[in-house]
Amino acid sequence: MKIHFLGTNNWYDTKTGQTPCTLIDTKEAYIILDAGYGIHKVDKYIKPGKPIYLFISHLHVDHICGLHVLPKFKFTEPLTIFCADESKKYLTKFTQHPFMSPIKNLPYKTKIVGIRPGKFVKPLSFVCKNLKHIDYDLGYRFNLERKIITYCADTAVCENDYLLAKDADLLMHECAFSPGSVHDAWGHSNPEDGAKLAKRAQVKKLMLTLFGASGYPSVMHRQEAQRVARKIFAPTEIAYDDLIVEL
Ligand SMILES: [Zn+2]
Repeated sequence: MKIHFLGTNNWYDTKTGQTPCTLIDTKEAYIILDAGYGIHKVDKYIKPGKPIYLFISHLHVDHICGLHVLPKFKFTEPLTIFCADESKKYLTKFTQHPFMSPIKNLPYKTKIVGIRPGKFVKPLSFVCKNLKHIDYDLGYRFNLERKIITYCADTAVCENDYLLAKDADLLMHECAFSPGSVHDAWGHSNPEDGAKLAKRAQVKKLMLTLFGASGYPSVMHRQEAQRVARKIFAPTEIAYDDLIVEL
């Protein structure tokens, strides 16, 4: 299985990264996590033969702005977009005029499916839970090729974050705040939070991603986050755009 980090910034694009998008290439499917501007690169990696599933964490615009890039793609397989049930009506509006070319006009089959927190076996084996963010937000725990991959976008560390991460082979966790930063009402994490969670949940590897665009203007700032996190949890890595991780 390959994981392509296509957009590893939170909030806005900079020279260091684009807004959130990660592609997991597994035997059974292509799984896209969030649709920030990094999504424009997915067609470099998506080949015919496997279904494509896009999981949206929440509706903050940096996580969905790349949806208007969908007409660029020439997928041969259907695209299913999963989002929280209560977000579906907004996402349905967002994916048509006057925001973008309507998804019903795409040259490949596309549908939006609303889901509630819970355990799923179809079309994939996964669990999703509500996280701690200012607006409704889902985190995901996938069981792929007998490995547990957890994706927690915008969130403060919370009990559901922990439950999704427990014993994961790979935890991809947001890192919007800089080391030592004070938390606010929005619900985000700093590198120490991610590392403490990874340690408590006994994950095999922590990948910090979704770095705040203003707090992390360069790769050096991300490296500092890694240094701080590794003091708490040694198997911590940092994501950057176009990094490929094999599991
Ligand atoms: Zn957010």
